[in-house]
Amino acid sequence: MKIQPRAQRFTVESAFEVLARARQLESQGRSVVHLEIGQPDFPTPRHICDAAIEAMRAGKTGYGPSPGLPELRRAIAEETSRSRGIPVRPEQVIVTPGAKPILFYAINSLAGEGDEVIYPDPGFPMYSSITAYSGARPVPLTLREERRFRFDPDEFRALLSPRTRLVILNSPHNPTGGILTRSDLEVVAEEARRSDFVVLSDEIYRGIQYEGAGEGEPAGPGGGRDLSITFLPGMAERTVILDGFSKRYSMTGWRLGYGILPDFLTRVFDYYNVNIVSCAATFSQLGALAAIEGSQEPVRAMVEEFRRRRDFLVDGLNRLPGVSCLRPEGAFYVFPNIRGTSLAAAELSRKLLDEAGVAALPGTAFGPAGEGHLRLSYASSLANLSEAIDRIGKFLGARVPR
Ligand code: PLP
Repeated sequence: MKIQPRAQRFTVESAFEVLARARQLESQGRSVVHLEIGQPDFPTPRHICDAAIEAMRAGKTGYGPSPGLPELRRAIAEETSRSRGIPVRPEQVIVTPGAKPILFYAINSLAGEGDEVIYPDPGFPMYSSITAYSGARPVPLTLREERRFRFDPDEFRALLSPRTRLVILNSPHNPTGGILTRSDLEVVAEEARRSDFVVLSDEIYRGIQYEGAGEGEPAGPGGGRDLSITFLPGMAERTVILDGFSKRYSMTGWRLGYGILPDFLTRVFDYYNVNIVSCAATFSQLGALAAIEGSQEPVRAMVEEFRRRRDFLVDGLNRLPGVSCLRPEGAFYVFPNIRGTSLAAAELSRKLLDEAGVAALPGTAFGPAGEGHLRLSYASSLANLSEAIDRIGKFLGARVPR
């Protein structure tokens, strides 16, 4: 019996591994503060749950059309037009169970053996995993701390080749919380227009932003135009937007995401859906419709609370010996530099969990360029964050000279 080599090229998200180890410690009676989590700790807003429950009670529990319910596709198209400042038709929208399938469909339909996919390092681990599966070569684009975790334009240009099929951007960014500026996007757009690569713009953290998205562009939630490469000339027709409901509306378990596609990709993405998932859950889609059409106040309140926690956590981390931490502009992660502790990221992460009871991910879980950093999620209460700072402080205080 033989497993195909391509299926053995997948790697897994180590967030799930750290969580498993943390749970094991907890089952032995140990206390763990969880800062490894990649989902908001707020419940899904009530009106969204009510809409889904009502849909189930009304018998909306069967298969739906493979690319998504027409009323949801229409609402997503309108919302995307408003937030990105580009015309979007409902036929360009494909709804998927979570946003992850959009990554899989985009990489596998555009890149294969001998091709190259450029992706941010550090970055969401699935970018390189799915690229490796596709047979294409993952080409990491290093994000630079001294540039607030944005890429260096010259380094980006040096990575381009005639085999570049896809360039993945992610803003706001997991794991650093960084945000791309308009000038970064212009660099990518300029190169895209003169070659024939497609951009995959992962905008899953859109709306979870604290300052303007750079150079005068107002940022969400709900208000203003979100900074997406699609509004630059010529880019909407060569960009796949990945977006969804998981983060902004605290709906990770609902599995509801979507892609905004250039026309030449709509049929192939629909065929992926038909072949792999049939469709996203009908009642989840009706909940998502309520998320778009209902009050955005819960999103605003969540982002305000995230801002408070971010400031608390960043200030606390910057008081610790051997640690320095930028104040990120988006998402709900901080990416402190821990080089001053003289411990490698994986070792510090392991010791913090085993000896101090704090679960945090090593930056290297997001690629080699994450060395020297941890990723801490502040999707956790202020009391938990305070406890985590105390515990990390005690652990480092005993080891790191000031
Ligand atoms: N993209 C990034 C950068 C993410 O962090 C995540 C989830 O953690 C996803 C995509 C996938 O989102 P979903 O849970 O909707 O599949």
